[in-house]
Amino acid sequence: MIAPLSIPISALEHWAYCPRQCALIHVEQAWEEDGNTARGRVAHERVDAGSATTRAGVREVRSLPLFHDDLGLHGIADLVEFGDGWIQPVEYKIGAVDGSRAASVQLAAQALCIESMFSIRVNTAALYSVSQSRRVPVEIDDGLRQAVATITAEVRACLEQLSLPTAPDDARCKRCSLNAMCMPSVTARTKALRNAEFALFDVA
Ligand code: SF4
Repeated sequence: MIAPLSIPISALEHWAYCPRQCALIHVEQAWEEDGNTARGRVAHERVDAGSATTRAGVREVRSLPLFHDDLGLHGIADLVEFGDGWIQPVEYKIGAVDGSRAASVQLAAQALCIESMFSIRVNTAALYSVSQSRRVPVEIDDGLRQAVATITAEVRACLEQLSLPTAPDDARCKRCSLNAMCMPSVTARTKALRNAEFALFDVA
């Protein structure tokens, strides 16, 4: 049996935020650094620079490689905490982390990899906001588990077909570092124009 294309866990976060962003990064290899991504990269490098430590009986391992053979996922966890009978991943983000579904999907994918690698159930994880110096717990519930499976399949199909989804051209675009490269308003208008032309052609 041919192994499925292994998907970077980060691609799931990008897809959950915007499928076009995921394709631009992982198909077109596009990346545009802005203030937020630069601050995020520095924050990650600070986490990555640390070694394994033990604090209050919890072993903290930084930059732990993760994989899940059945799902076909791989990545690196910023931080994984090993307690007495429990393990949880912690993902560092530069900005506010409340209610970020994309980041929660990324964490859930890390949790599923840990479950597969260490034969343990992972019920909780955490997002850490560097700018707010605050941790937010994330429950790895059935909804997030299903989202990981669904999004992994969608990303794999996109990468295998080398497709580029249409720009949603909505509020997400204002905060997207790829805005200048993506030109969402232009591409969305082009798609709408093409659809109108096809509709005209069909009627004629
Ligand atoms: S600018 Fe908008 S459509 Fe383009 S990648 Fe970013 S979020 Fe997606």
